[in-house]
Parts: sequence; C-alpha cells; structure tokens
Amino acid sequence: MRWLGEMKIWRGLAVAGLVVGVGGVAAGHVEAQRLPGGVRPEHYSLTITPDLKAATFAGSETIDVVLDAPTTTITLNAAEIEFVSVKAVVGAGSGAGTTATATATTNAGVPRLAALARDDGSGGRDDGAGESGSYGVAQTAVVTLDAAKEQATFTFARELPAGRVWLEIAYRGILNDKLRGFYLSKTKARRYGVTQFEATDARRAFPSFDEPALKATFDVTLVVDAEDTAISNMKVVSDTAGPVAGKHTVVFAQTPRMSTYLVAWLVGDFKCSEGKADGVAIRACATPDKVKLTRFALDSAKQTLRDYDRYFGIKYPMAKLDLVAVPDFEAGAMENFGCITFRETELLVDKKDGALSAKKEVAETVAHEMAHQWFGDLVTMAWWDNLWLNEGFATWMETKEAAKAHPKWKYEQDAAVEMDSTMDEDAGRTTRSVRARAETPDEINESFDGIAYGKAGAVIGMVENWVGDEVFRRGVHEYLMEHSYGNATAEDFWNTQARVSGLPVDKVMQSFVAQPGVPLVRFGSGVGEAIPVRQGRFFLAAPTTRPAGNEAWTIPICLKDGGCKLLGPEETMLAGTTGAAFFYANAGDKGYYRTDYSAGQLKAIVANAETGLTVEERIGLLGDRWALMQAGEGSVGEFLDLALGVKADPSATVLESALGKIGAIEARIATDEDRKRLDGVVRREFGGVYAGLGKGGRHESDEHADLRETLFEALGRAGDPMVLAEAVSETNALLAGQKPADAAVVDTAVALVAAKGDAAMYEKMLRVAQTATDPDLKEDALHTLTRFQAPELVARTLEYAVSDAVRSQDRGTLIARLLSRRETQDQAWAFVEQHWAEIERKSTENSGARIVVAAGAFCTVERRDEVANFFAVHPVASAERTLAKSIDSINDCVALRAAQEPELRQWLDAHGGL
Ligand SMILES: [Zn+2]
Repeated sequence: MRWLGEMKIWRGLAVAGLVVGVGGVAAGHVEAQRLPGGVRPEHYSLTITPDLKAATFAGSETIDVVLDAPTTTITLNAAEIEFVSVKAVVGAGSGAGTTATATATTNAGVPRLAALARDDGSGGRDDGAGESGSYGVAQTAVVTLDAAKEQATFTFARELPAGRVWLEIAYRGILNDKLRGFYLSKTKARRYGVTQFEATDARRAFPSFDEPALKATFDVTLVVDAEDTAISNMKVVSDTAGPVAGKHTVVFAQTPRMSTYLVAWLVGDFKCSEGKADGVAIRACATPDKVKLTRFALDSAKQTLRDYDRYFGIKYPMAKLDLVAVPDFEAGAMENFGCITFRETELLVDKKDGALSAKKEVAETVAHEMAHQWFGDLVTMAWWDNLWLNEGFATWMETKEAAKAHPKWKYEQDAAVEMDSTMDEDAGRTTRSVRARAETPDEINESFDGIAYGKAGAVIGMVENWVGDEVFRRGVHEYLMEHSYGNATAEDFWNTQARVSGLPVDKVMQSFVAQPGVPLVRFGSGVGEAIPVRQGRFFLAAPTTRPAGNEAWTIPICLKDGGCKLLGPEETMLAGTTGAAFFYANAGDKGYYRTDYSAGQLKAIVANAETGLTVEERIGLLGDRWALMQAGEGSVGEFLDLALGVKADPSATVLESALGKIGAIEARIATDEDRKRLDGVVRREFGGVYAGLGKGGRHESDEHADLRETLFEALGRAGDPMVLAEAVSETNALLAGQKPADAAVVDTAVALVAAKGDAAMYEKMLRVAQTATDPDLKEDALHTLTRFQAPELVARTLEYAVSDAVRSQDRGTLIARLLSRRETQDQAWAFVEQHWAEIERKSTENSGARIVVAAGAFCTVERRDEVANFFAVHPVASAERTLAKSIDSINDCVALRAAQEPELRQWLDAHGGL
C-alpha cells in the first residue's frame, strides 16, 4: 500500500518540525486474534453478485481446504457477513478436488454443485461417497460468530476426517461506506462497487482464512448489471448473459497462489487506455470522464514493467496488469496482484499540462505498487510483524525506479529530505522497532507508519550502497527465486543477502530492524589514520527527559572520498580515514544515522559545504545540526547561522530545508514579538538572493523556477510587501480566468493570499473544489480552503469538512491541516471537541488517526492535557501509539521552547532582527 496522498502533508509538516509523524510502541496488550491453525486453504471459488442500488451483495463460495487432523470445528475469518448456509463435503471423486498441488497453471476448484444437490440440509441423511464415486458426503454446519475476533466457527455433528474437505458457503454482505472490504464508491453519475482488503478486510467480502501465509488460488466470478464492466486480478475468460435478465456473468481466470489481502474486484463503467510491455497487456482505467488523464500513468507502467523484468531477473508474474483510479479511496494506492487500485490523485494527471509535482507523484506511486508485484505479491511476508519487507522495499524501489525514469526530477533529494524527517520520527521516546508485534487488526493497521516505510526503505538503501548495486540486486533475485508464490521472513532476506555478498548484511540489518531508534555517531578529533568514535541511541528530546538507551548498531559508515567502514557495537576507533580534503562521515547521505563532529571537523565541513558536499549531503548536514539543537546540543542561534550560511545555495531543496526549519523556529520557539523580528531577518537575508535570481523566462530551468518559488514563499510568509503585491496580482489574474504571468509562483501566490483572503475569494476557491474535474486541481483547491485564516472562514471550512460534499477520505486531512497550523489550531481543536461524534461517525478509520497526529502540533502543557484527556475518553481506532507519539511531541516542543526562547532573543538582539 502507499499512503502518499497523506504522507505529502505529513512530510511537509515534519520538515517544518511541526509534527513528528505516526508510530510508537504498542502500549496496551490485546489478545491475539490469529486463526487456530490445522486447516490449510488451497483454493477459493467465489461468485459475487452485487446490488449497487441496495448497497448489498450475495456471495457463493467454495473453499478447498486440507485438514491436518480429524475435527468437528473449522474457524475462519468473517466480518459483517450474514451466513445463509454452510456445508462441508468430503470424499468427493473425480468431479472435484484436484487442487492438491495447485499452482499458477493448475485449473481446479469447480464448484461441487452435484454434491450440494444431494444434501438434504439437515446433515443427517447424506449419501455415502462410495456409491457413485463422484459425489461427496455433505454435512451442514452450525455457524457461531465472534464479532470481536472477526471470526466464524463452523461446527459439524460428525467428525470431518483429516485430508481434503470442501466448504460450500452461501452468504450475504453489505457494500459499506468505510472504504474497506467490498465497498461503495460514488460519483455524481453513478455508484461503483470496489474492494480494499489490506490488511484484514478480505473477511468483509468473503469468509476466508485471512492471514498472509495462508495462500491459495482463486476463481472469481462476478454477476453484474448488463451495462456494467468488471475488473479483477486476472483476465476475463468468459462473459455471458444471465443468469437472469439484465445481468451478465463475468468469469476470471484462476489466480496463482496468493494471499487473501491481494484479491480485488471492481464493478462499474470504468474505461481504460491500453498498452503493452514485454508481452504483458497493461491498462490504466478510470471513470469515463477521467480516462483522458490515464496516459501518463500508462507510459510509466510500461517503462517500469520492462525495468523491473530486468532488475528482478524474474518476468512480471501475471498475464495482465490493470491500474484503476477509484473515486473513493482511503490509501494512496494498493498493490492487488495484477489489479492495482489508486486514489485518483495518485494515478491521473494530464500528460501535457499536468503540474510537475503531480507527475512526480504518479510516477513514484506506480513504481511503488509495481515493485510490490514481486516484493509482497509474489513473495509475501509470513506475518504482519514483517510488513517492512513489503513496504520498506517498495519505498526504496519507488525512488530508484522513478529517478532512473526521470533523472531530472531530483527524486534522490526528496529521499534525503524524507530520511531526515523519518529519523526525527524515529528519535521519539515512543518509536518502535521496524519489526514489531502486530497481532490485532488495530495493531496491524497502525503499523503502516513511517517506520515500516521510511526507515525500512532507508536501511535497505544504506545496505545497497554499502554492498554495491549489482551484488544487492543479485541478492534480491535469489531471495525472490527461493520464495516465489510463498512467504518469507526478515531472516530469509538478510541471510540471502549475506550469502550473496559475502558481507555481514545480517548483522547490519538485524541491528537496525530489531532495535528501535536512530543511532548517533560522534567523531572525535583524531591524529593520523584513526578517528575516535562513539555511538549511542539518539533522542530528539531535552537531556532532562531523555531515557537511557542501551542499543548499539553495526553500521556501514561511508566516508566522503574514503570508502565504507563497518562500525561494530563495541568499536571506538574508525581506522584508515586519511586522504580526504575534510572529514565527512555520511557520503551521499545514504547512511541511516545522525552524526556529530569535533569542533574542528565541523568547521571544515561548513567551510567546504557549498563546494565539497553534494545536495543530499548538505540536506543531511542541516538535518543533523537541527536534530542536535533540539536535543539540547548547540543553540538555536548556531543553527540560524548555519541556515543563513546556505542562503545562496543553488539547490532549491537545500534552501527549502533551511527555510522549513526557520519556519519551525517561528512556530515552536519564537514569541509573537520575536517572530516579527525573525521575519525581518528573513526579509533582509533572502530578499537580495531572490532579487538576484531575476524573473523566469521562457527557457527557465526547473531548478531556477524551484528556487524562485521557494524564496517567493519564504518572503511572502515573512511579509515582504513586494512579494505580497505580486502574489495578489497573480491570484487576481488566476481567479479572473487569465493565464498566470509567472507560472512558477502562482500556486504559492494563491496560498499566501488565501491566508488573508476574504469571503469572496473563499467562494471562488470553494467553487473550484466542488467543480474541478482534474483530481490534482480539485485537491489543491480543497487544501487551499484550509489556508484561509479569518475565523468565520475557518469555521466554514470545518463545517464543510464534515458535510456530505466532502469525500470521507478527505475529511480527516482537512481538519488535520487546520489543526496543525499555529494560526488556526485553537479554533480547529474546539471544533473537534464539539463535533467529535459527527466526525467519528462520518469518517474512515484513518481520518481519526490523522487528527490525532495533527493534535501533536500544540506546544503548551494545557493543550497537551486537553488532548490526552479527550482521546482517553474518545479513543481512536488504530491510533494508540499515534496518540502517545503526539503527546511526546507536545512535551518536546514545550521543553524546546523553554530551553531556546532566551537563546533566540539573544541571537536576534545581536543580529539586528527588525
Ligand atoms: Zn506499499
């Protein structure tokens, strides 16, 4: 899965130091909810008949299972399922049960209608199988439901023998509005029936052994309205009218062995653009009005498939690939095997006129989900505690592939920024280890966090950089070959990498995966070839509140111009370090650790920063110094000196990084008066740089346009009158339907003007949010509503967020944006407190978690207590760790302000702020 729709926002906030992100240690202890075992599913035959109008569906299912021992009960997963009848058939002959060695090519699992027909329903007068040799013995089950565990138990009067049994199940379900399981999605024109099963929601669509290691093959048949189409994991093998007038029956080919959470189907009037790569048919699909926006994604998918076929050394495992944009969608995208589903903003973009940021997002999301087709779908983690095997890999691969396909789009710089914010998240007291307990659906859902994605991805990148691209690729190939169509664990992955590389990859990965937190590596001034070194766990907290961490890591330390050295947990000297012009110990910013240097080393690094460090290294340097300051080492003044030192940096990403942290100082440390003075410093220091860039021209490079936009935003926020005047004129032109005079700054201009915007401008923006057909523009307009700061307009946005005009996937995001900004957070919090029942009722599970994250942006003890008390009384599903993390974040902010507010004032006095 990919959470980018949201992560974009979180990333922005985290960079600004406002929100540390989600994640943490499981505080409670909930009873395990795993299936009892002893039953192995081998094949499912599913026939689903949805009624979109009534928002219900009927299901008829046969599951071929193998029992390890004789039993009278079988327990599987089911949630919000109404059972109509359940029978077990044993001893069937040639007509059934040829699935013992089901593989991608075995055709098996014909529904045993003949056996069913012979059952009288009482289970008492079954025929013996021996009589005809082709009919089974059927027995009806008594079904008991355990709603809390999301399980159903079938109890049989007579013992079922060990071996093969066919479960024949008829049931009914609902098409819910919570964007999980089999759910309803709506446009103005019509309704759609679509699925989202990861992590534990296949059980809402069909009774199943819904655990990732219980892989089986699937036959899916959909009975849909005559004018509708259906899409599933596999190609259509037959499409016939009936079984009743006005319906047609679409039968899909049997899937290879796969996990339940990867099954998918969609019903509606989707339209597709079509292509082919390496002999595989690829389609990119959307609702009919948006199919014109699928070309860019289709091209990305074609190139990515060819690249991945070569990289993995294993051909894409399915006969076709569909990518489908769904109007209502909770995550960013979902890697269903052969049938990837997307939030519209993650797949649809105008190939010619779309914004660069939108194209970057689509290319990266497509690369992420397609990486999962191998890493996740072909080979799946054995249990959710190793979710990072899926998500860490896909997160690392998405950057690698997108950067290869679009070398000019600076994905590596984005990755450096992302690692910086991930390390901040991981430096909290309540962070978790990459591999961590996840037993209940709530715990599993909460583990889709910055640790499973960002940290695991960064650690994989660090290992690849250390062992070398080609060696690492061979290790990936071997691992996938060994476990194809099966499951694997963390050990399987790093043991294979260790064997292929001949390096202790297992030691390195184990230390980063099994232990929580981020290492801080301190270097002393050394003489000659050896540098004294010390490592320990780094906490982003004041010394007084910092716990003792006794973790120690095996870390590949890669030196600028000096190769990589492996630093073991006990080692105190880094040998062989001479030769470079200056000492810098995280070459390429690939290492997942913070660094601290001796005063002399740091001086040399800063002196060489603009000429001797890469963009990624400069981002890493700023991030490390910023983190150390927050931890009470160094003052905010020293950090400001460093940040102002890069004011003429040629990289927009470096400038953004520095300005984002200055913004965080304004939000988290400065008093109102000091904020005005710091604004004055920003105007003075960066105004000249901006003026020096001149205007954009027809041949302006992307980098130059980015630089201008970054400075335009910073100066606008700091109240630069010239910039604000330009912002007003750009916005007026845009709202009057004219072409922007300066396309590079127009989006930023609108956001700046909206902050002081009036009701008339709000109305115009609202209309765009309601009527735009381009998903990217619609989202931008929706987010711009949260920029307005006039209290009556903030109130309107909050009311709008809970109205039916907003899709439930967007409610939490709108409220969270208002809650995370200093200017609007008090009003947003009051609204959340007063309207919680309504917010909760109308929202999806993740919307609630988003609000809990955003509440972590407060910076007072009073608010901390309010937030803690409120969510203690109103607990949010899948957000227990998230709440602990938010409370920590507020505590850290309070401590930071107390420590650094006087320092900031002193620095402003000395530097002529205002
Ligand atoms: Zn993913």
